[in-house]
Amino acid sequence: MIVCKFGGTSVASAEQIKKVAAIVKDEPKRKAVVVSAPGKRFGDDIKVTDLLIALAHASLRNQDAENELKAVVDRYEDIAQGLGLDDTIVNVIEQDLRGRLQENRDNPPLFMDQLKASGEDNNAKLIAAYFTSIGLDAEYVNPKEAGLVVSDEPGRARALPEAYENLSKLRENGKIVVFPGFFGYTKEGVMMTFARGGSDITGSILAASLKAELYENFTDVDSVFAANPNVVDNPAEIKRMTYREMRELSYAGFSVFHDEALMPAFQHSVPVCIKNTNNPSAPGTMIVAEREYTKSPVIGIAADAGFSALYVSKYLMNRELGFGRRLLQILEEEEVSYEHIPSGIDDLSVIVRSHQLTAEKEERILERCREELHVDNAHIEHGFAMIVLVGEGMHNTLGLSARATAAISRVGANIEMINQGSSEVSLVFGIQEKDTDNVLRELYEEFFSKSAVLQ
Ligand code: ASP
Repeated sequence: MIVCKFGGTSVASAEQIKKVAAIVKDEPKRKAVVVSAPGKRFGDDIKVTDLLIALAHASLRNQDAENELKAVVDRYEDIAQGLGLDDTIVNVIEQDLRGRLQENRDNPPLFMDQLKASGEDNNAKLIAAYFTSIGLDAEYVNPKEAGLVVSDEPGRARALPEAYENLSKLRENGKIVVFPGFFGYTKEGVMMTFARGGSDITGSILAASLKAELYENFTDVDSVFAANPNVVDNPAEIKRMTYREMRELSYAGFSVFHDEALMPAFQHSVPVCIKNTNNPSAPGTMIVAEREYTKSPVIGIAADAGFSALYVSKYLMNRELGFGRRLLQILEEEEVSYEHIPSGIDDLSVIVRSHQLTAEKEERILERCREELHVDNAHIEHGFAMIVLVGEGMHNTLGLSARATAAISRVGANIEMINQGSSEVSLVFGIQEKDTDNVLRELYEEFFSKSAVLQ
């Protein structure tokens, strides 16, 4: 059995959904189809999930949200008409949305999640109706009935271990299961979404639970590229990579596959294939447990902006037991998670994603560092980017950091931080955000200029 997931652009319009149906028809093993909410049809289009967020905000502000509601319903109506479906499904969707707007109004995080989740839920109902109308033996399955139980963390839920056992029963369904991505239910039955882009996670959980022979993740590019094609001209296509490599790259800005989506597939040994809905015969990128890495030590270079650094220094920090723990505890209590902690003898910096900080939070963190940790100096700086070189072959390649640092210096960028994870599958450089694109191009030139296709 193959589990396939179709991302937002693959299900954004009737035309796209027809391609999805053709792909599903083409291979009888494709028995579970996970769908996103309708995404962008063109460059500055708005994803249905973002329309739903706007609807939730407008409704919570107690303002008349009819326009926002109409914007969502219109998207589905457009799709339904293009697929030759009658009004029934559009009415079901509109009633569903109106119902959601009445519930949990006193709990904004839950209210927001139940609206966000409707994007995939209603699209799955619509796509199942279409599949049936063209003679496919398909059925919409709700994550609650199927037992996709998740943790109680609105907007960033995680699947609980029992979800896998519950979902495995779908194997006996017999029909093509059309399953909405992006959300599950707590044990108490409360709807909760994964992090943004989380339909990939649903697909992976389902593939793992069903012990699928393959998890196909359909998107709008032929393969994963070795660097961002918006910055680097014609980057090499990656044909085969390991779970670890994909995890590192997607964590650091490769948006083609959600970084939290790899674990379920990896732990249950399900290979993942990233494929293009608009060109399904292209082989795509395979993600597997192991690969040969003789040709190039670096398989991809990711760059992600939006980082801040908390710097603390204290004379004899190295001798002080528990300093790091207490510092991290302050961050934990302020609900800030960290990414890297490069350190010296008397100083330490903690790199965090900037979106977690507010001016007040920063002030409190610095104040607590001074009051509770008695540091000599503490300050926070913003505007950093992380550039990450990734490749299984890196750990037995000499001189790789020398080549990378030389390339970075060639474009006149200063290296603010270097971090090599103990896995040695990645090498991270912290630089100023303004230098990101130049550094990425130069590093690409250094490590890839001659290769066209990577194995
Ligand atoms: N629709 C959700 C989002 O835009 C989830 C997804 O598409 O994977 O984040």
